[in-house]
Amino acid sequence: MALIVQKFGGTSVGDAERIRSVADHVARTRAAGHDVVVVVSAMGKFTDDLIRLADDVSPTRPPRELDMLLTAGERISMALVSMALGACGVESASFTGSQAGIITDSEHTRAKILEMRPERIREALAAGLVPVVAGFQGVSTERDITTLGRGGSDVTAVALAAALGADVCEIYTDVTGVFSADPRVVAKARRLPRVSFDEMMEIAATGGRVLMLRSVEFARRHSVPLHVRSSFTWEPGTWIVEEDPTMEEAVVSAVTDDTSEAKITVSGVPDRPGIAAKLFRELADRGINVDMIVQNTSLNGMTDISFTVGKTDLAAAIVACEKVKDEIGAAQVTSDDNIGRVSIVGAGMKSNPGVTALMFETLSTNGINIEMISTSSIRISCVLRADRVAEAVRHLHTAFGLDGA
Ligand code: ADP
Ligand code: ASP
Ligand code: MG
Repeated sequence: MALIVQKFGGTSVGDAERIRSVADHVARTRAAGHDVVVVVSAMGKFTDDLIRLADDVSPTRPPRELDMLLTAGERISMALVSMALGACGVESASFTGSQAGIITDSEHTRAKILEMRPERIREALAAGLVPVVAGFQGVSTERDITTLGRGGSDVTAVALAAALGADVCEIYTDVTGVFSADPRVVAKARRLPRVSFDEMMEIAATGGRVLMLRSVEFARRHSVPLHVRSSFTWEPGTWIVEEDPTMEEAVVSAVTDDTSEAKITVSGVPDRPGIAAKLFRELADRGINVDMIVQNTSLNGMTDISFTVGKTDLAAAIVACEKVKDEIGAAQVTSDDNIGRVSIVGAGMKSNPGVTALMFETLSTNGINIEMISTSSIRISCVLRADRVAEAVRHLHTAFGLDGA
């Protein structure tokens, strides 16, 4: 008998029929003799709808109130899933993040988990119930309700699996696993049966939203086996596992795309020690995550610094840069939210020369201009015009031999 955490994303609980289907699957897992903890997202696009409503009434969206609002989405689905389980003859009880003992810091809308105290979940399991936990939410040390960032139900599921010592954390979604590219962008994308934690972290960090990045980091740190699979076909999906040294690594496993970021350029920056530190300290102090950074070669003691941030952080990042610009005597701050990023990811890249050249050749043959480049040992990313991203992904998918039948 195993303990299984089963997380169901928005589409998987999108309407009453989907919820009944989820309940039926949980009932069958129970009937096979396993203990199950269920984690749910808000139904369909409900979180987006709530954000739009907030925008309609408030230009500033106070973060504490936004969190209070958004957590309502998961509260609805947890109660409905629990009721549907009852109708299948499975005893269950629903729990908010706070009731499930998910203690976070006070960074509203992007809170981090500080501690897990899932006593009530343990008690429910011991009493033979299936606990149904609202994903994406917790309670702060200041006793306010928080959310864990978009896609955060994945983190709830992995954190509970780690705290309860679950045998596996199953992430049920609307595709049959992790693919060699977003199947909505590349029709010929193939499902990958296994992906290493290293590769999955790069895929998640560069736009493959099938798993939230922090959930992958958490799963690796706590050795939680992750299985991404479909709540429509229920077939086995993709296992995220530690690299198997006996397996030949694919040179390139996946191509990802991301149009969620914008670029900021601070130009006419005096090329002196401490200037970049001042700029990025100001951004960090405002809780803004910076992704790619490029600094040009200096000319006459002046240089330009460009970097990318999430579009949702763009306005705040510009304010921070304008402040530092005046302090350091830089010339100007400009921004561009019409960019996108394509990346290729593969553990075998380390030992195969020529991967970078083939990526750049593929883009240039198709007349696609590269604006920024960044690399890790198993990833190469290029920033392009946003409207060229989808075709770039398809060309790269073909060029690296990833197209399926
Ligand atoms: P959920 O609501 O179940 O959490 P998400 O929308 O967050 O679902 O994530 C699933 C989506 O991720 C898929 O519908 C797919 O379009 C997208 N996706 C992006 N890249 C990939 C990839 N490499 N493999 C699989 N799905 C991907
Ligand atoms: N409902 C939240 C979101 O849309 C959390 C999640 O689905 O994981 O971001
Ligand atoms: Mg998701």
